[in-house]
Amino acid sequence: MASTIREGRSVIVVGSGLAGLAAASAALRSNAKAVVLLERAVKPGGNSIKASSGINGAPTRFQSQPPLDTTFFSDTVKSAGKRIPSSAPEQTRRKGLIKVLTDKSSSAIDFLADDIGVDLSVIAQLGGHSVARTHRGAGKTPPGADIVTRLLKKLQNDKRFQLRTGCEVTKLISTTESSGPGARPKVVGVKVRSGDEITSLAGPVVFATGGFAGDTDGLLAKFRPDLAGIPSTNEPRPGMHNLLTEIGARLVDMDSVQIHPTGFVDPLSQDSHLKFLAAEMLRGEGGILLYNGKRFVNELGTREQVSHAIMQLNPNLGPLKQWKVQILLDPGACTAAGSHVAFYEWKGLLSRKKVSELDETTRDTVKNYSLAVAKHIPDVFGRSAFGHWTLAGGQEDNEKEVCVGWVTPVTHFTMGGVVINEKGQVLASSLEADDEVVIPGLWAAGEITGGIHGDNRLGGSSLLECVVFGRIAGEQAASQLTDDG
Ligand SMILES: Cc1cc2nc3c(=O)[nH]c(=O)nc-3n(C[C@H](O)[C@H](O)[C@H](O)COP(=O)(O)OP(=O)(O)OC[C@H]3O[C@@H](n4cnc5c(N)ncnc54)[C@H](O)[C@@H]3O)c2cc1C
Repeated sequence: MASTIREGRSVIVVGSGLAGLAAASAALRSNAKAVVLLERAVKPGGNSIKASSGINGAPTRFQSQPPLDTTFFSDTVKSAGKRIPSSAPEQTRRKGLIKVLTDKSSSAIDFLADDIGVDLSVIAQLGGHSVARTHRGAGKTPPGADIVTRLLKKLQNDKRFQLRTGCEVTKLISTTESSGPGARPKVVGVKVRSGDEITSLAGPVVFATGGFAGDTDGLLAKFRPDLAGIPSTNEPRPGMHNLLTEIGARLVDMDSVQIHPTGFVDPLSQDSHLKFLAAEMLRGEGGILLYNGKRFVNELGTREQVSHAIMQLNPNLGPLKQWKVQILLDPGACTAAGSHVAFYEWKGLLSRKKVSELDETTRDTVKNYSLAVAKHIPDVFGRSAFGHWTLAGGQEDNEKEVCVGWVTPVTHFTMGGVVINEKGQVLASSLEADDEVVIPGLWAAGEITGGIHGDNRLGGSSLLECVVFGRIAGEQAASQLTDDG
């Protein structure tokens, strides 16, 4: 297959997570003569392959409840919080990106379901969403793995596509378009290290190297030293933002790091820094959180709100900064989250207990919560969506089985990154930060970009941004290839 690729006539995609795969797919659809996907790891898929809750889309044919879901844009703006300033032009720029994300979410779901064959028929309501709009499949394969595997397989059936793993991009190659004070670099290719060999590859570049939540001692320590000691769901690997700033790219919101409230603490390796995510859909399908047997928060608040509530509690002492919070799913929630629960049980992260085996405080909490779900009393924390919780609060509950596990907050996602416009072009830093000065020849998509999610990314919106902006970037880069002949 390598022989079919003509160097200099290819779209170069850096990073084989979902953003990179979506970009490669769009570039091929836009008639790029060739697409080379460069991946530093031995296996493709990045953090995307681990995604477990699902991907947002609205309105879609899989959502059941009328009326049409029209609140995705406003939910996203609300979740972004104060990072969206009250005045133009920055407010306009950020809202413009959110509009692209949410307006194109429905076609992103159609693309995955119809063109790639991903099952997205199951919908859950995650924290911060007004309605259920996070899509996943009914089978055993988690959504990230299913999407990545199918998309990659489809790409590999195309002779114009080439994946090179074990290839790390170490530099963007640029030329200067003009001389003088307004001189701007144009990206014309990349330098790639494979083993001891360094080579150059020419072509328009889509940069999709992911975030830096796993770069504990590097970018994370630089921008958020206060997060030292908190475990992570991300693979340990360096952030690549410096490759972009070296050629003048602008960064934004680098201190905006998402703490996911629920990473599993494995009882057999409590001090491991890398944690398995307790997917948000566990709470979406009905799970509750307890500290010393009592609820303390609306479990469907945003990730920021729930994490904040946990971090107000006393931490558990040990080498890591972690908290001892219990996640509890009743039989209805366990069934609704069936394939996830089976997997977590198999990993030893969740276990089953009869209600009668719970301590007295926990039993009281479960009883009162069940009465709130049945609308006999109001929920003390204002939770209004209860997923598939079925316990009713009576004596008959005692013999039923719940699932329990230990969870703690974890660094999970970096909202900051390189600034892009609605075409996925990377913007340059300039003396006037309001100017939109693009760096020609360079696009970016996925978690490497910043500013779309502001203070808090809604669960399910990262896979979505990978598909939406990855496809835009791939299409744009392919058009440059055509323009350049
Ligand atoms: C456990 C877990 C569960 C999640 N669940 C969900 C979910 O359910 N829904 C959701 O929307 N989001 C979820 N997320 C977040 C989401 O998966 C990621 O934010 C998103 O997939 C990032 O995709 P990406 O393509 O930008 O980066 P990644 O998927 O991380 O891919 C980046 C790739 O670039 C490669 N790379 C880096 N530097 C270089 C270089 N210099 N040269 C070549 N290659 C390079 C990396 O090795 C990597 O393979 C989850 C994240 C985690 C960790």
